[in-house]
Amino acid sequence: MKTIATLALSPTAAHLAQASTILQNGGLVAFPTETVYGLGADASNDQAVAKIYQAKGRPQFNPLIVHVANVQTARRFVQWNTLADQLAKAFWPGPLTLVLPRKKDAVLSDLLSAGLPTIAIRVPKHPVAKALLTQFGGAVAAPSANPSGQISPTSPAHVRSGLDGRIDAIVDGAVCTVGLESTIVQLDDGAVLLRPGGVAVEDIEKEIGRPVSIRPNVEKITAPGQLNSHYAPQAKVRLDAQHWRPDEARLGFGAVDCDLNLSLSADLVEAAANLFAHLHRLDAEGKATIAVSPIPQTGLGLAINDRLKRAAAPR
Ligand code: AMP
Ligand code: MG
Repeated sequence: MKTIATLALSPTAAHLAQASTILQNGGLVAFPTETVYGLGADASNDQAVAKIYQAKGRPQFNPLIVHVANVQTARRFVQWNTLADQLAKAFWPGPLTLVLPRKKDAVLSDLLSAGLPTIAIRVPKHPVAKALLTQFGGAVAAPSANPSGQISPTSPAHVRSGLDGRIDAIVDGAVCTVGLESTIVQLDDGAVLLRPGGVAVEDIEKEIGRPVSIRPNVEKITAPGQLNSHYAPQAKVRLDAQHWRPDEARLGFGAVDCDLNLSLSADLVEAAANLFAHLHRLDAEGKATIAVSPIPQTGLGLAINDRLKRAAAPR
């Protein structure tokens, strides 16, 4: 991965405008939230979202939390319901993430939700996060701003020690106060706790006047079979296809003849950005098998191959 100069930005109006422009141009900006520092990218931009995984060196595509400035903006992206309304009124801005169905017309990256039909979304409370999101106006995908497997960062120095040269900018906002991750609840007919965090379950239950059920181990929902709704195509998936067979939907990588190409120039960031959208499109053609070119097992190739292996696993 090429090294880039990582700008240090202060939370002044001029610097926040600069940070927002970097996001608009598909760059990566780390910024403080009340939980931990987030690594932000434009959530509507597949390539920008792919760069998050690349910068963090994540070997898997787990779905990311979307950050927005306010409830109105959230409602542009997800199907709102009564429970969401009650919880947003009580706990937003704050460390509570709501998982809701993605709106049909929402302009959001498929990679962001790892192909899931739901979106995890929250309004952070930290004034610098709020200011940046307000300036940006849209949805910002932001997992913790640390290399995969390392401790979550609660100061700009932590972010720089982990990601210097891999991201475009760090906005300084002093230290984070909660230091815990956000609580994640999925809302449909009821509320299901997906991850405990900064807002106590008891407080959520008090607010909605009913119990919250618990689904354990959701941190590992990308493990095979752990979440049935996790995106898997209808078609069988054949990996490492060196040659195409008759009647397959052909998903290529590099200079090959195929139906859809993840990246003609064999660029792994571009391939990651296209992965879910291309799988969805080929699956919609209704062929029994989707065959996929070999993907190199380096950089983002690890996460791409991980996801493809899950898609190819017997069901
Ligand atoms: P973080 O690294 O704190 O941003 O963690 C993101 C967490 O949100 C992960 O544990 C994901 O599994 C969870 N998550 C994000 N999107 C979804 C979703 N659509 N459905 C369920 N869990 C989600
Ligand atoms: Mg993390």
